[in-house]
Amino acid sequence: MKIVAIANQKGGVGKTTTAVNLSAALAESGHKVLLIDLDPQANASSAAGCPAQDNMSIYSCMIGSTPIHDKIQASPYNNLSIITSEIDLAGCEVEIARLENPLGRLREVLEPLRHDPAYQHVILDCPPSLGILMTNALAAAEGLLVPVQCEYFALDGISKILDLLNRIKNQGVNPNLELVGVALTMFDARTRLSQQVVNELKQHLPDKIFTTIIPRSIRLSEAPSFGKPIMAYDPSGVGSQSYRLLAQEFIQRVA
Ligand code: ATP
Ligand code: MG
Repeated sequence: MKIVAIANQKGGVGKTTTAVNLSAALAESGHKVLLIDLDPQANASSAAGCPAQDNMSIYSCMIGSTPIHDKIQASPYNNLSIITSEIDLAGCEVEIARLENPLGRLREVLEPLRHDPAYQHVILDCPPSLGILMTNALAAAEGLLVPVQCEYFALDGISKILDLLNRIKNQGVNPNLELVGVALTMFDARTRLSQQVVNELKQHLPDKIFTTIIPRSIRLSEAPSFGKPIMAYDPSGVGSQSYRLLAQEFIQRVA
């Protein structure tokens, strides 16, 4: 079992879209996936068809001793389980900061999953900040997947998250953390800018950019409002195809 955090401190780059649709694509291909929504906005929960509910987030596990298994729910989709978020998760940051080993809380909470054959991939959808929840995610994960929007300053944003990755690795918080890859999102084939960003990123991080590039697609942006991953909302469209290809690359990289 591998834990992979989907993170980028920058907002609106496609973290949640990637967490939900990558999870759904992995599940569709027969892999057993647990998606954990760590963002108090709870967008991943609703987009995966499991709206936020009081007392069902990972909150009480992080600040108390509730076992993680108490919070796992089945999603409407085969092989896809979820731990939903709730707005209270925002308060978690303050409470965790007061606990012993605040950066290692999530790692401890997820420990029982490591010996549970029910899950092959645990995917963490992180909030857009360098706060305690995201740091906990990076401290708990073996893998980091960074979604990056094809736009100006993309490289700038990546260097910040890669700096954080190196600090987490080198300061002993989590020496096992590796960059699984950078997934380029919202690629617009009609603009030269998108292509320039792709070229620039490929030059700087040649082995780390996923070959699959996620195009900008209206369907991908509509699917969450129907509470469906793209595989359920538009199974044969370009969004589904892209996330299926990304899932195949992902499986090879985390294996
Ligand atoms: P936040 O930082 O707020 O958590 P995020 O990084 O999780 O944001 P998303 O919520 O996945 O980003 O995406 C931001 C917006 O862009 C959403 O409205 C989403 O529907 C849209 N979006 C994401 N990917 C695509 C895409 N490939 N094509 C079109 N729209 C997209
Ligand atoms: Mg998000």
